[in-house]
Amino acid sequence: MSFPSNNGGVSRPEFDLIDWIRSRSQRTGRVPIGIGDDAASLGVINDETLVATDMLMEGVHFKFPDATPFQAGRKSLAVNLSDIAAMAGKPIAAFVAICLPKSRGQQFAREVMGGIQTLANEFDVEVAGGDTNSWDGPLVVSVTVVGQATRGRCITRSGAKPGDALFVTGQLGGSIHGKHVDFTPRVQDAIRLHESVELNAIIDLSDGLSSDIHHVLNQSQVGAIIVASEIPIAEAAVANEAKTPLERALTDGEDFELLFAVGPNDSETLQHNSPCDVQLRRIGIVTEELGARLECSDGRVVELPPQGWCHQLES
Ligand code: ADP
Ligand code: MG
Repeated sequence: MSFPSNNGGVSRPEFDLIDWIRSRSQRTGRVPIGIGDDAASLGVINDETLVATDMLMEGVHFKFPDATPFQAGRKSLAVNLSDIAAMAGKPIAAFVAICLPKSRGQQFAREVMGGIQTLANEFDVEVAGGDTNSWDGPLVVSVTVVGQATRGRCITRSGAKPGDALFVTGQLGGSIHGKHVDFTPRVQDAIRLHESVELNAIIDLSDGLSSDIHHVLNQSQVGAIIVASEIPIAEAAVANEAKTPLERALTDGEDFELLFAVGPNDSETLQHNSPCDVQLRRIGIVTEELGARLECSDGRVVELPPQGWCHQLES
């Protein structure tokens, strides 16, 4: 849309960049018209169509030089793929609206787009369009992903039932030490789970387990008891002045793992025969009684509020 050149309009950095992006965008065969026209055409999506958007800002979601421009780009797409995974969907196409800091030049822009395209290729997603601007501010990248429900229906946050088991993928906490710019969106695992068991509810963990679990509980109108000793704590979740490793696993954000609910029979199935590459852990059960509670290692059961919670718990 606009990417002013700084030498009187002779060079056309916006179009050079778009040509470069276009030349590197892998065609998946699912997008009849991709980059290069006024709008993209996605052909017909038979099942429910899923659309997710997330905007990432330098200084908030990534910081330079802690993260590389490649990682900033990669993360901008990855968080959206995680949202599609959280509906058990398959991502198809991505649209990238990027606002580039003028001072950083073309190479920086290519590295950011390179991070997006590399991850897109890994997930068979076509970068099908976007918008390129520049300004005197920091990097801002907004990605929209279009996907498709698998098995004919997507899974929401609202179907958890009393008696269901709650599982999480992977390990939680300490993502700020690197994983937040380098995580694998659990797209494949969610699709495999959807194929092998009846998923009642699913969400991706972006704000921290203790916070995100409430979205599932509120929308499903149920409660839960989480067993502290079952929570998979990441090695990176080391104790700091403010939090124990367990507290970090419960409250640190940006894990981008999945939390999901399945019935008791499916829970047994998953524990003996998981279809996933990533580790699954049963961390608790869904209750009729509303609210989230935590069963501590000493047997006490305490409330688990969305933000912060009862301190001095042992991990
Ligand atoms: P228009 O002026 O008609 O909106 P643009 O010149 O902004 O078109 O964009 C030209 C083409 O390049 C469009 O297909 C658009 O979707 C695509 N595009 C622009 N920026 C990006 C980007 N950062 N990533 C992917 N595609 C892009
Ligand atoms: Mg146009």
